[in-house]
Amino acid sequence: MSAQDPLDSLGDLPERLLLGPGPSNAHPRVLSAMSRPLLGHLDPAFLALMDEAQGRLRDLYGTENPLTLPLSATGSAGMEACLANLLEPGDDIVVGVAGVFGERMCEVARRIGARVTRVETEPGTALEPEAMAAAIARTRPRVVSFVHAETSTGVHQPVVEIARAARDAGALVVLDCVTSLGGLPVKLDAWGIDAAYSGTQKCLSCPPGLSPVSFGERALARVRDRETPVQSWYFDVSLLSGYYGGERAYHHTAPISAIYGLCEGLKIVEEEGLPARATRHYEAAAALVAGLAPLGFEPLVPEAIRLPMLTSVRLPEQIRENEAALRRRLLDRHGIEVGGGLGKLAGTIWRIGLMGENARVENAERLVEALKSELG
Ligand SMILES: *Cc1c(COP(=O)(O)O)cnc(C)c1O
Repeated sequence: MSAQDPLDSLGDLPERLLLGPGPSNAHPRVLSAMSRPLLGHLDPAFLALMDEAQGRLRDLYGTENPLTLPLSATGSAGMEACLANLLEPGDDIVVGVAGVFGERMCEVARRIGARVTRVETEPGTALEPEAMAAAIARTRPRVVSFVHAETSTGVHQPVVEIARAARDAGALVVLDCVTSLGGLPVKLDAWGIDAAYSGTQKCLSCPPGLSPVSFGERALARVRDRETPVQSWYFDVSLLSGYYGGERAYHHTAPISAIYGLCEGLKIVEEEGLPARATRHYEAAAALVAGLAPLGFEPLVPEAIRLPMLTSVRLPEQIRENEAALRRRLLDRHGIEVGGGLGKLAGTIWRIGLMGENARVENAERLVEALKSELG
């Protein structure tokens, strides 16, 4: 198929190596699991699988939270679900904004009617726990929310210090684990996180479409104590718990095939073990940074706070003007997708994901070789 042909059937879909900020390639075992015969969402065989998926999610999240479930929607829906359940109109929230996804949290909270205090940091830098603590002390918020792995910049944000400051002030802590879960250790209980959400298409190597979420006891108590009903019927955890909390009463139809895929994806993570998986991510990222350096691409983020699954690189001056065309050539001629910069960083950086199954030295090398051939 040439690049100009319109896609006239699924048979024409090209194969891509997805090295952008997500989705990443799904593991073949996940895709195969998803093609298994459908069951009903109340079928005992399916419910056993759901139990298994929820148990594996608890393990991966490092939590005993009973209400840990794969929400039937993408990562942004997990964000919306956490904030919609914990906030009521007029409540205060402090949001750590270190990129696009912190920004999105502010907008979601604003639409719920919360009073939003933003604690901002330059893209490519880490949130300052002292600045977060000062805003928390000043506004005594109901909720403090921030991103663990900020995919728009590639920065690993400090979790423990911020969570402690929030807890000390009696606030609930919401953590975005969309890009971290399945690639780096996540320890909700040890870190004192009250609610968290993730997505399946990044380091879990499943297709997009599910958002693993987890609500702790303090968060659920807050939902019970609300004065107003949760604005969203679909995301109201007191209703969701009718199905996902154990009774298995109908709420909405669980996306059967996606759950098969998630179950298999979580099994693969467990087989490898998270320490080995995190190491694999760090090794692939190191190979990428080393391979790109001679071509003039410099990492945006200092090594101490750099994420392994998403590397932002500054573009050499001479390709900035035509960076979009170069990305297009990587796609068309080499079948490799990488991501451009967002917001302030558009046109000056690329975002390269080596996520989940894709986090392999050979994938880093394949991209470096393709770039070498394009840059001559
Ligand atoms: C991708 C991403 C999201 C949004 O997830 P969608 O599945 O695109 O809705 C939220 N937060 C972070 C950190 C992400 O990387």
